Amino acid sequence: MNVRVGVLAVQGAFLAHSEILEELGVTAVEIRQPAHLGGVDAMVLPGGESGTMSKLLVSTGLYEPLGKLLHGGLPVFGTCAGMILLGSSILDGRDDQSCFGVIDIAVRRNAYGRQVDSFEDDVDTTFGQFHGVFIRAPRVEEVGRDVEVLGSHDGEPVLVRQGVALAAAFHPELSGDTRLHEFFLSHVAGLVPVAINQTAKEM
Ligand code: GLN
Repeated sequence: MNVRVGVLAVQGAFLAHSEILEELGVTAVEIRQPAHLGGVDAMVLPGGESGTMSKLLVSTGLYEPLGKLLHGGLPVFGTCAGMILLGSSILDGRDDQSCFGVIDIAVRRNAYGRQVDSFEDDVDTTFGQFHGVFIRAPRVEEVGRDVEVLGSHDGEPVLVRQGVALAAAFHPELSGDTRLHEFFLSHVAGLVPVAINQTAKEM
């Protein structure tokens, strides 16, 4: 089966995600308008600026059909701004900013400070350490009962999952490590065989 993964490409760091997905043997489809959503098996919402993304989602007409697909069970992986979009409430968001509410988390935008406070550090995850690149990262301040915390940094959740939705506060597409994308495709979305390589086997 040819697995097609849509990568929201209205703004932000979508290219690096597409490259990793292609490296893992699935087809990455850039999503810029509603017609592009046809036939996708999963979605990736990249990092960027969540307020701008939210605005562009509305102006392109993507917000409603994408929301319907996500609430209908389309697997999704959101990173950084993508995590904010997947959450159920946004703290310090722009007034006109909205979120899909498929992961029951309250997320504070830019909680680690401004650009100078971006940092890199190891994240403890359920499948070992992962190098986390945090760029004006959001902080998960509340976690609902149906949410699994799969990774943390300094005791705070930075990788969470609810059903077929996965979200990271950091940028796994920038660390040269494909394990999280593999984990998403195999364990979360069930789209590719579980053990793509040795690392995936250990998860
Ligand atoms: N601070 C950004 C926002 O609020 C997210 C940063 C990122 O995606 N790297 O949307």
